[in-house]
Amino acid sequence: MKVGLVTYTPEKVEGFDLHVYYAKWADGSTFPAASEMQNDVTCFCDAKAIREDPSIVAVSKNGPALRKNRRVNLPFDFVCPTNPEYQAKVLDYIEGLCKEKVEGVTLNLYHFPEEEFCVCPRCVELWRQSGLNWTQWKTQTITEFIREAKERVKCGFAVEIWPDPVLAKERFGLDFDQIAEYVDYFHVPLSARDYTTMYWVDLLTRDFIKTLKKPVVLELSAEMPNDEKAEALLKTMAYVSRHDLKGILLLVHNSENARQICRFAVKNSEFREWLKKYEFTEMSRIVENWATIY
Ligand SMILES: [Zn+2]
Repeated sequence: MKVGLVTYTPEKVEGFDLHVYYAKWADGSTFPAASEMQNDVTCFCDAKAIREDPSIVAVSKNGPALRKNRRVNLPFDFVCPTNPEYQAKVLDYIEGLCKEKVEGVTLNLYHFPEEEFCVCPRCVELWRQSGLNWTQWKTQTITEFIREAKERVKCGFAVEIWPDPVLAKERFGLDFDQIAEYVDYFHVPLSARDYTTMYWVDLLTRDFIKTLKKPVVLELSAEMPNDEKAEALLKTMAYVSRHDLKGILLLVHNSENARQICRFAVKNSEFREWLKKYEFTEMSRIVENWATIY
């Protein structure tokens, strides 16, 4: 099992063997490619593009896909996924990244915002012409976008998924079986303020490993403000490392945040004994490796 980072800074950190860099953010910021890293591209969430041209937002009978619209419960502002000009802009950006010796590209938020989206005149017309039902049309639209992105990517290719193992098709147009044909692995973010309660992390990890037809990389938040929360994170990593994961990624503020986690684990002799006593072999190997560096 690999251990890696999801980071906002384009630099690798010793002790981690998978580096995911946020190249395009949900606020619309875009950055130059980070070479030899997996570059993560937020596709249809783009607050800046929507501010510049409000007509591109996805819409529903409850109004637009904006955070400020309290009738829909959305964490980001979503562009309509069938907007041809916006799609072309994202695909060109992805193609540009691949010219810079990146390790790979991960698509993020490349789907419909929710079940009732998008009913803009273009989407309704495309749906009618397709002869498919609403969910089938949505999944076909999203799978087609992934296929087009994959054609532009001459390096590694992965997708993040919204961690809903049951309703992803109806809500977002995500057909995990279809998507599996295009990607090297799935990146499943299970973000939280802390993991002092963690049964749901184990539950979703089991569900996704069993149902997804490609390897799974799990992302956990590592911006932990105190020792109790840092220890809960490390123990959660240990428990999920018993599953057949391709890797665990830690979401960090910056490289120093990543090194803090390593140093905390290395100094914590009780935790290292606990790993050995209960035979958390993979996690033990990772922490013993950190101990040779930190
Ligand atoms: Zn639309």
